[in-house]
Amino acid sequence: MSDKNSFDVIVIGSGPGGYVAAIRAAQLGMKVACVEMRETLGGTCLNIGCIPSKALLQASEKYHEAQHGLEAMGIKASGVKLDLKGMMKHKDDVVESNTKGIEFLFKKNKVTHLHGRGEVLEAGKVKVSDGKGAGEYEAESIIIATGSDVITLPGIEIDEKKIVSSTGALELKKVPKTMIVIGGGVIGLEMGAVWSRLGADVTVVEYLDQILPGMDGEVRKEATKIFKKQGLNFKTSSKVTSAKNTSKGVELMVEPAAGGDAEKLSADIVLMAIGRKPYTDGLGLENAGVELDERGRVKVDEFFESSVEGIYAIGDVIAGPMLAHKAEDEGVILAEMLAGESGHINYDMIPGIVYTWPEVANVGKTEEELKDAGIKYNAGKFPFMANGRARAMNAVDGFVKILADAETDRILGAHMIGPNAGDLMAEVVSVMEFDGTAEDIARTCHSHPTLTEVVKEAALAVHKRPIHI
Ligand code: FAD
Repeated sequence: MSDKNSFDVIVIGSGPGGYVAAIRAAQLGMKVACVEMRETLGGTCLNIGCIPSKALLQASEKYHEAQHGLEAMGIKASGVKLDLKGMMKHKDDVVESNTKGIEFLFKKNKVTHLHGRGEVLEAGKVKVSDGKGAGEYEAESIIIATGSDVITLPGIEIDEKKIVSSTGALELKKVPKTMIVIGGGVIGLEMGAVWSRLGADVTVVEYLDQILPGMDGEVRKEATKIFKKQGLNFKTSSKVTSAKNTSKGVELMVEPAAGGDAEKLSADIVLMAIGRKPYTDGLGLENAGVELDERGRVKVDEFFESSVEGIYAIGDVIAGPMLAHKAEDEGVILAEMLAGESGHINYDMIPGIVYTWPEVANVGKTEEELKDAGIKYNAGKFPFMANGRARAMNAVDGFVKILADAETDRILGAHMIGPNAGDLMAEVVSVMEFDGTAEDIARTCHSHPTLTEVVKEAALAVHKRPIHI
């Protein structure tokens, strides 16, 4: 094989797992190629996930604020109008600048971008085919970073017009009058919030008895209360059994989750947001002998190595939370291990954020998990209502809750709902990474007046000594 087709590492997939692994491996002196079948780099995250959804969340939030949030601050804004095309252009521009940014980083770090679908022929060999032809490449290490794809319910076909996935929900040509979101998880709530702010009447149908499965119970309750106040409708403990396209929109049959009489609901647009599954189509893993687990994820060991030596996997395609920053961290650690360094990832310290307004953020154990495990803990909670900066922002909904080990005071988890909760969470995660305590946060000077003081007060509340409440 020519030197041109031979690499130290070939990464398949250029999402946050793949492109980060490629860049880090190149930084460490390896000769790296990254295969991507999409026209642009950046994967789900940059093209149809994190980035476009945040662009629409940001823009729709400003639109909503201009209509409903300014008067209370003494600003009279009249004639506020939605230019949906303009908003979509903002989103597309943000996506383009981010995906081009990865192209630039690949050039800067001398990562070869191979455009086409990658297929693993065997350990050390990858075939890349695009519409025009195919080429074979070899590498000592192959990293599978092919991400995930949308899940639908049996019998319900996503047409991306009326029954849409998150991808279609990022591209709607007009604001629907009515929208039903199937699934009250992160993606459903974020996209539901966007279209609700732009004027749609949005109902979220959730199988469980509450939205935001897996999150701390108190946060879930508070989120439901706040989102209801904002105009979202919730139909919990309910399961959708069918969805049919009609001339007017979509007709859904919905039953109580526990069984009972079905009812018919209709909407202009239905968003399927029940989760995502690992994507390994056409990768040739079976032929290469790479084992998958019962959920179709590539099985890996603690070094991210699959059942075949020299073939590794990271990101959404393996077990763990389907989050961009988890994929990125795995990419860095794997590249460093391939360079002979050591590294590890602490899966208990991966924060999860819901970018609604207010934001929801969590890390570590929930109260429910601690109780189930019989771990004794102290909880400290502080509301944004009692914080000067939050009052100045007119953003007083929500709270910060910190959970600390009753004996050692080590922080075991933090759960927040409030303005900029996603950013506030970074402090707690850092302290947790250093095995820090609630007292460490409580004794740290926090600037006044900032929202960060809510985190400090929650830490003080762990020891029942908050100052401002
Ligand atoms: P992906 O980003 O899925 O990238 C995989 C890439 O591999 C794709 O570009 C695909 O085209 C390519 N590929 C697949 N098979 C092949 C092949 N055979 N040959 C060549 N290329 C191939 N996470 C967050 O942390 N924060 C958020 O705010 C957030 N928001 C989201 C919003 C939405 C609407 C969605 C859908 C997801 C969101 N996520 C968010 C999740 C996040 O996007 C994923 O966790 C992340 O993209 C996973 O990264 P990855 O590198 O594993 O795979």
